[in-house]
Amino acid sequence: MTSFADLGLDPKVLSAITDAGYETPTPIQAGAIPHALQGRDVLGIAQTGTGKTASFTLPMINMLSRGRARARMPRSLVLAPTRELAAQVAENFDVYAKNTKLTKALLIGGVSFKEQEALIDKGVDVLIATPGRLLDHFERGRLLLTGVQIMVVDEADRMLDMGFIPDIERIFQLTPFTRQTLFFSATMAPEIERITNTFLSAPEKIEVARAATTNETITQAVVQFKPTRRDRAAKEKRDVLRALIAAEGEKCKNAIVFCNRKADVDIVAKSLSKHGLDASPIHGDLDQSQRMATLDKFRNGELKLLIASDVAARGLDVPSVSHVFNFDVPSHAEDYVHRIGRTGRAGREGNAFTICVPSDEKNLAAVEDLVKMTITRVDCPVDFGAQKSEAPAKSDTASDAPAPQSSRSRSRRKSDDEAPKAQQDKDTAKPARSNSSNKGGRGRNGRDEPVVGMGDHTPAFLLRSFKKAS
Ligand code: AMP
Repeated sequence: MTSFADLGLDPKVLSAITDAGYETPTPIQAGAIPHALQGRDVLGIAQTGTGKTASFTLPMINMLSRGRARARMPRSLVLAPTRELAAQVAENFDVYAKNTKLTKALLIGGVSFKEQEALIDKGVDVLIATPGRLLDHFERGRLLLTGVQIMVVDEADRMLDMGFIPDIERIFQLTPFTRQTLFFSATMAPEIERITNTFLSAPEKIEVARAATTNETITQAVVQFKPTRRDRAAKEKRDVLRALIAAEGEKCKNAIVFCNRKADVDIVAKSLSKHGLDASPIHGDLDQSQRMATLDKFRNGELKLLIASDVAARGLDVPSVSHVFNFDVPSHAEDYVHRIGRTGRAGREGNAFTICVPSDEKNLAAVEDLVKMTITRVDCPVDFGAQKSEAPAKSDTASDAPAPQSSRSRSRRKSDDEAPKAQQDKDTAKPARSNSSNKGGRGRNGRDEPVVGMGDHTPAFLLRSFKKAS
């Protein structure tokens, strides 16, 4: 079996790896590191949990140990799709580079430009950034990318989902043609293929097992039910979620609850808190310090339930999560694998429950198709038949709150993990169905009501009612 010592890494890097407690390289590390050290471009098809961060960070540290950084001209660049992932790369860098004098800067949204600019001005060896924030700095004229010798693109498929590909292309063009590129993606969508064909030079392709198969240590179950009424589906899903958490009892040490929409992340978190559970939301609309604080609490065991969107939770490394609850079936089947992969890590037991109402069934079929198994159905823990006449629980007022409108959907995309349009459409709750008053014409009370799209300028003839000629 390959050992880290066989990979050609510097003794300083090797000793940091030993201190980190790693004994043998993972397949992506064994595959990528020797080629990266030879200066080759690498195309790594691997996802989070495979050790891919070290597979690019270790050779970078090794190669950058010769030479010095110049003001405003970083020597290497790592692009990650979200603030959390960028911060995670930065943390990894600190661990592996502890025996070197290499410097780094983390450029992510939600942190003041000034502090980041001060670091860039001093000169950094490694710049770790989200694409939006990096381009913001570039446009302010405070950053030159012509000194970049190594460029890493991490989680390219997520960049694609978030609409960052044009930004990535632009960044590629701002760096020297002679740079070395280490490019990582969990899947090779045609658009990703095109980018790699354009910007990578004869890359060494290393593919490690896709996570289309779910971990055997995870017990998976689907709770399928039909809401009593369509407009009660969300509330009844929250009832089911609470009942599932309660039924798991002590077994549920901590959990991530995934929702497809950001608005639901907030509503579910509020609803659980109102019912006395220890829950906090995490999604792209929360400010950076809030997100970091919530994550830290969850990692430290001070927070039991983390309610998350796929974008916010993707790639997060929380070693011990006993349960994952899918409030909805994800609309991208691969997200199911990523979601439940948060539990059952490193051989531990994990539990994943998925709530499925009829509108989720199509997505469930796609998931089962991907994982090539039928997920066990379990009984719904709530009997809505018996509850039909019950008024909604008073304490669940969150359920009645209007879905908070994403401020980002209104403003120009400014930075990092603020997903452009396509992703926002996916992440933002659809507005409630318009009621009859929005349909225009005469309302039931006989008063003229606005015609949608006409504002105050509806021509009078459109509002006239038709009477039979007598
Ligand atoms: P990543 O896929 O980079 O997010 O890494 C997933 C987890 O695996 C992180 O917690 C790393 O610290 C850990 N890890 C990475 N490489 C190794 C290794 N060779 N041996 C043991 N753990 C590792």
